[in-house]
Amino acid sequence: MTREQAPPAVELRAVTRTYGTGERGVIALDSVDAVFPAGTFTAVMGPSGSGKSTLLHCAAGLDRASAGEVVIDGTPIGGLSERQLTRLRRERVGFVFQAFNLIAALTAAQNVALPLRLAGRSPAPGEVSAMLAEVGLGDRAGHRPSEMSGGQQQRVAIARALVTRPAVLFADEPTGALDARSGREVLRLLRLAVDQHAQTIMMVTHDPFAAAHADRVLFLADGRVVDALPGPAGAQEIAVRTARLEEARPARSARVASR
Ligand code: ADP
Ligand code: MG
Repeated sequence: MTREQAPPAVELRAVTRTYGTGERGVIALDSVDAVFPAGTFTAVMGPSGSGKSTLLHCAAGLDRASAGEVVIDGTPIGGLSERQLTRLRRERVGFVFQAFNLIAALTAAQNVALPLRLAGRSPAPGEVSAMLAEVGLGDRAGHRPSEMSGGQQQRVAIARALVTRPAVLFADEPTGALDARSGREVLRLLRLAVDQHAQTIMMVTHDPFAAAHADRVLFLADGRVVDALPGPAGAQEIAVRTARLEEARPARSARVASR
């Protein structure tokens, strides 16, 4: 199957997510339509509170939409039981967070093997070491997180997220806790996964330089997709769009759910 014929890795159809009700209710996502084609790298940007994390959590099946439908790898997730959803996340979705979230008591190799074990299979010989080698940590298999730098830990987290070859990798500010050089290395690895393995990636970031590694950039404001840059776009152009959104912000009043 060519990339064009493959179903989108993720599709959001009129997805709304509200928190609370009545006067204190918040519309975190407001009827968002978005398609994330297989094998593409999308960056999601927007001011603080614009709904980026909510979008990522809903798209990943970590959070349920209040209305609308999320389709992951061809499966509409709205009708799945918690058990089915957990299984789909485990087998078809990968996550990388700002805070690495490795298990401190496990070595790098054990951390990377974990998603395979949770999916009920033991890693094939060489599978984990090949994955570690892919992120440049072939010589760190026996190290625990406390024995590695932040950049190295995030590379282990990337290896762990990719070892199941998920339909989509979600990354929430993956370079947020890293120095510039480690951040660049992480972005290079994400880009490589897209170019070499047709990995689909959705990455939330506030950094125009990070977003410039993506194939396109979606801009959120007040829970809506308000702008898109088909890419690859330069960091400067992305920064200009971001600044425009920040400037427009005070003019917008905080929207409150009326129901
Ligand atoms: P971002 O990631 O862009 O900073 P979020 O998706 O975290 O934005 O939040 C979007 C909006 O939803 C904000 O107004 C935020 O305060 C609100 N929100 C997020 N999570 C919750 C929650 N668990 N309970 C109530 N409001 C929430
Ligand atoms: Mg956020």
